[in-house]
Amino acid sequence: MARYTESKCRICRREGTKVFLKGDRCYTDKCAYERRAYPPGEHGRARKKSSDYAIQLREKQKVRRMYGLLEGQFRKYFEMADSRKGATGENLLELLERRLDNVVYRLGFSNSRAQARQLVRHGHITVNGRRVNIPSFIVRVGDVVAVAEKSKKIILFQEAQEVLARRGAPGWVEVDGTEFKGAIKALPVRDDITFPINEQLIVELYSK
Ligand code: SF4
Repeated sequence: MARYTESKCRICRREGTKVFLKGDRCYTDKCAYERRAYPPGEHGRARKKSSDYAIQLREKQKVRRMYGLLEGQFRKYFEMADSRKGATGENLLELLERRLDNVVYRLGFSNSRAQARQLVRHGHITVNGRRVNIPSFIVRVGDVVAVAEKSKKIILFQEAQEVLARRGAPGWVEVDGTEFKGAIKALPVRDDITFPINEQLIVELYSK
């Protein structure tokens, strides 16, 4: 499967914001964006006037890369969001948030979404007591996402509460740190996503 192999920190510098792709490092002064908050490359510091299209494209790329998706995958989420009732941009964010790898990240079981995807693929995560190894699995209200019994001794999971204390869990999940599990209390809504995203720009881009 195709995957992105460029430096993760270059993505943040390109998108002009911290996208939090490297776990703990993103919260320290080693963060490359904190040190060099301008686009990578020889002409990175040159001032450029961006067209509307460029602004929309950058917003889409930022969100796509934040959730670690390829263009085709992201486009499918957009089409699903567009076919539903309600605001397309909000539907899109809701679907992205409900991906199992994102939920594992939100519950504090991983330092990054990329790591969460790896944990899901390797069979460390269950949904309602059954092992699920599909990172794109969409959770529903009432689902219980947990660390598989045999995986609980992995140090990463032992540190989950510490990670959560630093990052905080969104209101739509209820975390039980001692049991290494979390319940989906409600569907994520726009206000639950505090990261600066202008989803309308993505809608405008794909609506051309
Ligand atoms: Fe982005 Fe900073 Fe994390 Fe690198 S360390 S991925 S620049 S937030």
